[in-house]
Amino acid sequence: MHLSILASGSQANALLLREGSTRILVDAGLGIRGLIFALQEIGERPQDISAVFLTHEHNDHTRGLASLLKRAPIPVYATAGTLAAISPGFMRMQKAFPMNGIAVDVGPFTVRALPVSHDAADPVAYQIHCGNDLVTIATDTGEVSPDLHRAFAESTIAVIESNHDEHLLRTGPYPEHLKLRIAGSTGHLSNRQTANVLRDCNTGKMKHVVLAHLSEENNHPDLARDSARTALDNLDIAVHLTAQKTVGPLLTV
Ligand SMILES: [Zn+2]
Ligand SMILES: [Zn+2]
Repeated sequence: MHLSILASGSQANALLLREGSTRILVDAGLGIRGLIFALQEIGERPQDISAVFLTHEHNDHTRGLASLLKRAPIPVYATAGTLAAISPGFMRMQKAFPMNGIAVDVGPFTVRALPVSHDAADPVAYQIHCGNDLVTIATDTGEVSPDLHRAFAESTIAVIESNHDEHLLRTGPYPEHLKLRIAGSTGHLSNRQTANVLRDCNTGKMKHVVLAHLSEENNHPDLARDSARTALDNLDIAVHLTAQKTVGPLLTV
């Protein structure tokens, strides 16, 4: 299985999973040009995507969706709340399927949604099984539920938000209401919260941690990586950073 981060951050989020001829896109937050360009960089094309899964309706996760669906009639999966929040007519007009709490099979992948705590209609994380491997993808959540915590511990690849450094956020330039929103229980995960999850990922299953949705204002890649590295202690787990305008990492398990 191959995992490619096409973009990750406060402006745009998208990642691609590939196994054999099946390709799953999780979130379509890049504009269509940026999405096509990022796909080209890894030798992929929009029309070859088998399904799109959306975590929630915020623009940095859905910006390119409408244009993508005009180019290729790809089935879209999300919670009913997310689908309705994108546009009231969306469920009628497109090949859109509500997740309804059940697992969805796409080729060799089995995808399950887990609720997260974020100020959107019905946001989720995804647990994606492929053979013996599990990828858990969670960004945009203010808290980590026990179920999500467990999912990470059992994962081969963890794509986890490491949005902000708590001190940088507190002392940074954002207005007070925005600071409270980001740090709140329906905001975003800090480096410290992410480290608390990673500390329990010593089950011997995990091979890669991908730190996602880093804030460009309230974090620094070195701080996020050092915090995760310290939490993972001496475990043989690779820690990868993501960026807003660079494709990567490209992982194979
Ligand atoms: Zn986001
Ligand atoms: Zn969001």
